[in-house]
Amino acid sequence: MRRRRFVITIDGPSGTGKSTAARNLAKRLGYLYLDTGAMYRAVALKAVRRKVRLTDRRSLAQLADRSAITFRLGSGGRAQVLLDGKDVTRAIRSPEISDVASQVATIPGVRRALVRQQRAIGRAGGVVAEGRDTGTVVFPDAPLKFFMSAGLAQRAKRRFEELKASGHRVAFAQVLKEIRERDRRDQQRSISPLRPARGAVRIDNTRLQPDQVLAKLIDYVARGKSCVCID
Ligand code: C5P
Repeated sequence: MRRRRFVITIDGPSGTGKSTAARNLAKRLGYLYLDTGAMYRAVALKAVRRKVRLTDRRSLAQLADRSAITFRLGSGGRAQVLLDGKDVTRAIRSPEISDVASQVATIPGVRRALVRQQRAIGRAGGVVAEGRDTGTVVFPDAPLKFFMSAGLAQRAKRRFEELKASGHRVAFAQVLKEIRERDRRDQQRSISPLRPARGAVRIDNTRLQPDQVLAKLIDYVARGKSCVCID
């Protein structure tokens, strides 16, 4: 008998290591890694390229609705993000796009369009979805949900190292300021604010290495139920 392939969600603020955790877990289980943040970033990139004003909510929602955002494994097994068939993996990671993404993510029409696409991807199961609202809004019935956190300084350090490694020249103080601002926007927006889903397992990743996080996640998957519940 085949084992049931379900949806696992991992939410949390930026820089908590949830992308690495989600990618590693998906690889281990043979599941698809659904990076929902990359979808908001792709819409932001398209908006910037087309010079759509961030106050023009209707055009931004249409733009999200008419965008084909897909994922594939590129050479060396690295995940690639395609926007309307073109590889935008690197272009969506700049500090400017991070900022614009968190602004377009406050627009209800944009969220509706992307949530629809995310649910279509998750319909068949076998998905590790990662973002801000995957456990609360996109897949509220997912049987296993995680919420990752980490200290602010550690998160800023991770983000700073990531940007440096990808060739972006930024000051640490600026990264810290931007993370604070994105946190504020993500937590205070009226639609789908960032918060732990009911029943989510909380993982504090301030002092854990990626392999320790993976071991914890696998442990919960093996047990088939969450223990450290929030509600
Ligand atoms: O996770 P990442 O930093 O790539 O996400 C970029 C932005 O997209 C976040 O700052 C957040 O504002 C938004 N986002 C969201 N809901 C998600 C995923 C990301 O609002 N599920």
